[in-house]
Amino acid sequence: MTLGSQLRGAVKRGELRVHYQPKVDIKTNRIVGAEALLRWNHPELGILPPGQFIALAEDLGLISGIGQWVMALACRDAVNWIRAGFGDLRVAVNIAKPQFESGDLCDVVRQAMQDSGLPPKQLVLELTESMLMDNVEASQALMADLKKLGVTLSIDDFGTGYSSLSYLKSFPLDELKIDRSFVVDLPGVKSDVAIVRTIIELGHRLGMSVIAEGIETSEQLHCLARLGCDRYQGFLCSKALPVEEFMELLAGQEATAP
Ligand code: C2E
Ligand code: MG
Ligand code: MG
Repeated sequence: MTLGSQLRGAVKRGELRVHYQPKVDIKTNRIVGAEALLRWNHPELGILPPGQFIALAEDLGLISGIGQWVMALACRDAVNWIRAGFGDLRVAVNIAKPQFESGDLCDVVRQAMQDSGLPPKQLVLELTESMLMDNVEASQALMADLKKLGVTLSIDDFGTGYSSLSYLKSFPLDELKIDRSFVVDLPGVKSDVAIVRTIIELGHRLGMSVIAEGIETSEQLHCLARLGCDRYQGFLCSKALPVEEFMELLAGQEATAP
């Protein structure tokens, strides 16, 4: 109850923050984008991760407004990175189920593109299997409209949801994001290596790129490189950072560019 009423106020008081976690190209080892991850800078409890308040925000009907704010900010930040000469970076935002079902997601995306000037393909929407599967036909129609706008569509936490393979061919997805649970025991556990190898091959054969999340060790990364994974995200490169620190990381990368 208390956290709920505080959360309503938090949005108005500007206590929400967006941190950015780098996405790294495995072949070149360069940062090619970032995922926007929400944080709540709580006056007494300090920085709270989304696991502690996203569900509450959904229950209180606040998540669509918050998601819209995250998208607008992330697009503006990405434009700054591109203008600063850090390359054609992509920024990814997580879409909550109520946002996906709200009926105005296309308008929200269009508005964010217009206000920021970000080229649409530089915006990645991270969707989840469960939100797509509730109403497959409506999802197909919405995703087709989003593709018309030119944005990039990714499926987050891949393999943990309904794991229905039939939807993969009917949804216009650009990227599969392998869930952390499959990579945590790489390269030691043979069954996980087999699953990850199969997901990568499946994605590639369907014309998608594949990213792995939650990479913490160079052993995991070497295994992914060997299996042909395109990109990774994880503490091995960096945790999610405030935008100034993320830009310092990009600047450091430019300084050491070949
Ligand atoms: P996600 O989209 O799957 O994001 C990846 C989560 O894994 C992030 O947790 C990230 O900090 C964490 N992570 C990244 N690398 C590593 C690693 O190497 N090891 C470990 N142990 N963890 C790693 P975070 O930031 O706590 O976010 C949790 C979830 O909250 C996200 O999962 C996403 O579903 C949701 N979320 C975050 N921001 C937003 C948002 O703006 N809107 C919505 N609707 N959901 C959000
Ligand atoms: Mg995500
Ligand atoms: Mg994920």
